[in-house]
Amino acid sequence: MQSYTLLAPAKINLYLEIIGLRADGYHELAMVMQTVDLADKIVLRPNGNDAFRLSCDHPQVPADQTNLAYKAAQLMASEFPKSFANYGGADIHIQKNIPVAAGLAGGSTNGAAVLVGLNLIWQLGLTHSELEELAGQLGSDVPFCISGGTALATGRGNELDTLPPLNNLYVVLGKYESLAVPTPWAYKTYKEQFSETYVSDIATLESRGKRVHSGPMVNAIAHQDSRKIGELLHNDLEKVVLPAYPQVEQLRQAFLNEKESYSETILGAMMSGSGPTVFAITTTLTQAENLKQKIQTTLPDPDLKLWVAKFISSGISIAGDS
Ligand code: ATP
Repeated sequence: MQSYTLLAPAKINLYLEIIGLRADGYHELAMVMQTVDLADKIVLRPNGNDAFRLSCDHPQVPADQTNLAYKAAQLMASEFPKSFANYGGADIHIQKNIPVAAGLAGGSTNGAAVLVGLNLIWQLGLTHSELEELAGQLGSDVPFCISGGTALATGRGNELDTLPPLNNLYVVLGKYESLAVPTPWAYKTYKEQFSETYVSDIATLESRGKRVHSGPMVNAIAHQDSRKIGELLHNDLEKVVLPAYPQVEQLRQAFLNEKESYSETILGAMMSGSGPTVFAITTTLTQAENLKQKIQTTLPDPDLKLWVAKFISSGISIAGDS
């Protein structure tokens, strides 16, 4: 049986609006998601046993049953018991390149990779939409990670509409290594502080989410208007995360100050998801690399890590056989 090495890319949010609370207790969201080529490597080796074994090279990532990659494997085993019995489990190794608890869907993309990998190893022939259906059982961001690219995500983040790809943009990502924002904390705090702004009746809740389909950000993406995309970056969670994490606000401000001087090539800056990663979008690789250096000089802190990445139109992909 063949082994697979998969690339599991990170995502950033170009738009994140919290609309209200759904009957199932989740928030109703309207998000525009984008994959970038900062990716983890996931190696799956069939082991012929009746179990999955997980390892990860990152000390902050639990290599146990709480890991989303492991949960994805268990889900596949329970959904396809005959294939599991016939082919057996797999040894799964995660090589972490995506920072952890960073608002970049690191865990979600690992879970998505295991679904894709076992679909290949067990020769199930599941389509992307069937895999997305399964992915929804693992977490709200996991379905998007299967196909990636540029997409609108509504509902609790799991209802996807593909948008035209934005392949010619670059991003500088910045994260203080010692900072981690728990996603549940960010949403809970938002609810505590802003629930009076929530749309409360269910019909309006759903129609508000759908309205984003014809909204300015989707329109700017349809017209490949990168300048407009930069202007329209929006993330409701900044309202709770930035006041609680002054370093994140300082980093965002440093990016925005550079945008003032280089408005032709730096299109905008914002926090991704629930943070603490902040990103700035540029039109060229050179500009992204220059911006990374500038920020390193402006904020000379060894705890601050910076990456340059490119927007990509794919989700989980095969890196090569191993
Ligand atoms: P999201 O953007 O989807 O909210 P995130 O990027 O903020 O996610 P993750 O990197 O997914 O955050 O990590 C959140 C927590 O999930 C970690 O603190 C870790 O304990 C746990 N976790 C479980 N599985 C994984 C995994 N495969 N990779 C990273 N973290 C994982």
